[in-house]
Amino acid sequence: MRNSHQRTLVTGGAGFLGSHLCERLLAAGEDVLCVDNYFTGTKANIAHLLADPHFELMRHDVTFPLYVEVDRIYNLACPASPVHYQHDPVQTTKTSVHGAINMLGLAKRVKARILQASTSEVYGDPEVHPQPESYWGRVNPVGLRSCYDEGKRCAETLFFDYWRQHRLQIKVVRIFNTYGPRMHPNDGRVVSNFIVQALRGEDLTLFGDGSQTRSFCYVDDLIEAMLRVMQTPADFTGPINIGNPGEFTMLELAEMVLRLTGSRSRIAFKPLPSDDPRQRRPDISLAQSAIAWEPQIPLEDGLARTIDYFRKLLGGA
Ligand code: NAD
Ligand code: UDP
Repeated sequence: MRNSHQRTLVTGGAGFLGSHLCERLLAAGEDVLCVDNYFTGTKANIAHLLADPHFELMRHDVTFPLYVEVDRIYNLACPASPVHYQHDPVQTTKTSVHGAINMLGLAKRVKARILQASTSEVYGDPEVHPQPESYWGRVNPVGLRSCYDEGKRCAETLFFDYWRQHRLQIKVVRIFNTYGPRMHPNDGRVVSNFIVQALRGEDLTLFGDGSQTRSFCYVDDLIEAMLRVMQTPADFTGPINIGNPGEFTMLELAEMVLRLTGSRSRIAFKPLPSDDPRQRRPDISLAQSAIAWEPQIPLEDGLARTIDYFRKLLGGA
């Protein structure tokens, strides 16, 4: 039966992860308020939810205060692709920092439980591998990625200070690279770039020599973990790593995408962007013990589903 008392706010709800989260929350019987300024998200991502009377959509920028009555908040508003977060870096920092202040203020006023979508970028270019939550990271404070990395780090600080100072119920999840259907074709992140390029027969743009690594989590696995973290006891705050420990070089990823798409595209080596982390893999021991979670979908399977999605989107390319 639907729990009509559970009103849940999702900021950034029209984005890639946010739209999947809204869908799962509605399916679980919650009333969902989706807030987005459509910077990188689209109405198309949540168009199929608009007819549901338990779904509400509001255009709003989280850098401004928001007055609504809710029980739970998932704070996802923030561009996640380097291309987009570097487009207007001042706005990116404001979105993370002012957005966190506004959403924490809201949570305090209405006594809501609040979850922050933090990121593996808080570890920067890590010297500890794989990265456990106890690692403080190695982040350049003045580089091109700093608006995102430091903005997210400051947001974590705010969450923990609201918890210590105001006893707010907080949950901080550190999300590692996640991919899947509804990534925007021009999103700029590596999985969508390679798939779209392969399907269009264009060169795959591989930055650097392709030896840098990432660990890719399929969206369904990630959303399941977020929902579980929100349900943890009040004294569980995180931070908690959520990601798939399978680690691949970008060259391996490019070759896998070429094989799975059957594309005859070639790989074109391009300059490595500054401060691009050399390696990244989550230590998920905490997630295994605290929420009994580990990812179920290996990279090949998740890529195949994502390729299907983009094939349809691009009109059978
Ligand atoms: P996305 O860009 O698809 O979604 C972000 C959403 O936030 C978009 O709908 C965008 O329009 C909205 N938004 C941006 N600024 C806003 C503002 N000022 N006010 C209101 N809405 C705003 O990216 P995503 O991959 O869905 O990421 C969602 C969240 O998860 C982000 O906070 C991101 O930092 C975090 N995250 C994602 C990943 C990943 O790999 N996908 C990894 C680590 C962290
Ligand atoms: N990358 C690449 N080609 C692209 C886009 C990204 O080789 O077209 C590389 C990028 O340099 C990085 C990795 O892929 O080493 C992951 O990049 P992404 O932007 O997806 O995420 P992040 O760097 O934030 O983890």
